[in-house]
Amino acid sequence: MINFQYARASDVADAVRMMAADPTAKFIAGGTNLIDLMKEDVERPSRLIDISRLPLNSVEETADGGLRIGALVPNSDLAYHPLVAQRYPLLASAILAGASQQLRNMASTGGNLLQRTRCAYFYDTATPCNKREPGSGCSARNGLNRMHAILGTSESCIATHPSDMCVALAALDAKVHVAGSAGERAMAFTDFHRLPGTTPQHDANLQPDEIVTAVELPAQGFAKNYTYLKIRDRLSYAFALVSVAAALELDGNTIKQARLALGGVAHKPWRDTGAEAGLRGQTANRATFAHAADLVLRDAKGLAHNAFKIELARKVIVRALTQAARGTPQSQSNKKIR
Ligand SMILES: Cc1cc2nc3c(=O)[nH]c(=O)nc-3n(C[C@H](O)[C@H](O)[C@H](O)COP(=O)(O)OP(=O)(O)OC[C@H]3O[C@@H](n4cnc5c(N)ncnc54)[C@H](O)[C@@H]3O)c2cc1C
Ligand code: SF4
Repeated sequence: MINFQYARASDVADAVRMMAADPTAKFIAGGTNLIDLMKEDVERPSRLIDISRLPLNSVEETADGGLRIGALVPNSDLAYHPLVAQRYPLLASAILAGASQQLRNMASTGGNLLQRTRCAYFYDTATPCNKREPGSGCSARNGLNRMHAILGTSESCIATHPSDMCVALAALDAKVHVAGSAGERAMAFTDFHRLPGTTPQHDANLQPDEIVTAVELPAQGFAKNYTYLKIRDRLSYAFALVSVAAALELDGNTIKQARLALGGVAHKPWRDTGAEAGLRGQTANRATFAHAADLVLRDAKGLAHNAFKIELARKVIVRALTQAARGTPQSQSNKKIR
């Protein structure tokens, strides 16, 4: 039995104050990831700071036509929110591709961003893991690495970020709002998560006392031409081998704007703005999409068990962009990709 203290924050400033006073504390929101990690002895917080009752659970329209989503909005409420379902169906379908209904009812927006990797060695305290214990080594590099990253890896860590929702948020150009002792700030979604480098213990660019307060979406939702395509070992309740969030703005058959982000392939949702730029002005067809896939995967590297992800990702990118262009966003993840 490992003892820990419990305290409930009365407002955001109180949460920040409590966290600043005890760097070994942890915020708890829905608890669907943190409690599992505590049971497995991977996380040992001295104190849980319960933020679940803070008034951060609303979805509000912003002055510039976007949405501000409070950090405590449950994943299911967000997916079924009428404004999200109508204007950002890419986000709704990514959320609904993750976990189970029961988990989505508990899981919060902020917690989804900060959920930790599903690398099995990270959960197994009998094995070395640089993310769990910096400097101890990476068991996955020469171990069972079928689920691991093919882009942006380092010698220290090849883990992937497990979220589906975050892949759509990266593609949609969201912003993350945070508050800490130094005040409030906002950052681009693509700057929020980190690549592993030599410090894989840090998943996000957050100061130790900072709390995520909201995620903001810009006005453009790509509601007409989008797809979230998730390929996994089981049809539901499984993390992505590869997922792709694709969104297009078309003028006839010409691409005016494109968004492309991948999940299951890197330590962070992998958005490739170079490939997006390459799509602009081109005809929406298979050759164009195959070229974009080549660009995204130009630096991909496979290991003993995950090299198949490179070809898989290529096919999923082409299919996701094809479905987006046709305006047929339904996931085809149960069908064989040719
Ligand atoms: C069996 C299972 C299957 C799953 N499958 C999927 C899947 O397929 N796809 C997918 O995307 N997800 C999946 N999930 C993950 C699930 O989405 C996350 O567990 C959930 O989103 C975490 O949210 P939470 O509010 O419960 O976070 P918590 O467990 O409360 O917290 C998680 C982390 O975030 C921190 N945190 C929470 N809120 C904040 C905040 N506002 N500011 C700063 N730090 C914060 C906590 O300190 C903790 O470190 C699955 C989970 C389980 C258990
Ligand atoms: S891939 Fe990362 S999380 Fe997994 S064992 Fe290596 S260091 Fe740990």
